[in-house]
Amino acid sequence: MSSLDDLYKEIILDHYRSPRNQGELAPPAHRCEGFNALCGDEIIVYVSLIDEKVEDIKIGGQGCSISQASASMMTEIIKGKSVTEAEEIIHAFKEMMDIYESELSGKEAENSTSAIDLGDLEALQGVVKYPVRIKCATLAWNTLTQSIDEIQGLDN
Ligand code: ZN
Repeated sequence: MSSLDDLYKEIILDHYRSPRNQGELAPPAHRCEGFNALCGDEIIVYVSLIDEKVEDIKIGGQGCSISQASASMMTEIIKGKSVTEAEEIIHAFKEMMDIYESELSGKEAENSTSAIDLGDLEALQGVVKYPVRIKCATLAWNTLTQSIDEIQGLDN
């Protein structure tokens, strides 16, 4: 195993052991649940949007180290961002996962158009060599997307 893989593993385990922004937010914060039946992961995302900004975000639920670490990293990068910025980050993260999936299936990966620095999240690239784990890594992100969609649906 390369030292980069070791570093990635360390980052993931650190977030798994000491999850950031864990807990609940009281209403009117929005609550949204996500499940990954393949692995048994459960993520509950609490989001408080104020003036189109992610004022606060908390994570509940339980699951494998990848699902929980990904959720923890997501809260760190998303908290305090505008909804537009959050959507760009979600897009960039999913693109990172998709590129890997495309490479695995032998398709030519599209050029990444985003210049967003994903920081610790890059560590998750190391684990998505196993396609089944991609659903673990993207669970929190899909749940956050659903959450934002639901909140914006309520406003309209
Ligand atoms: Zn999992």
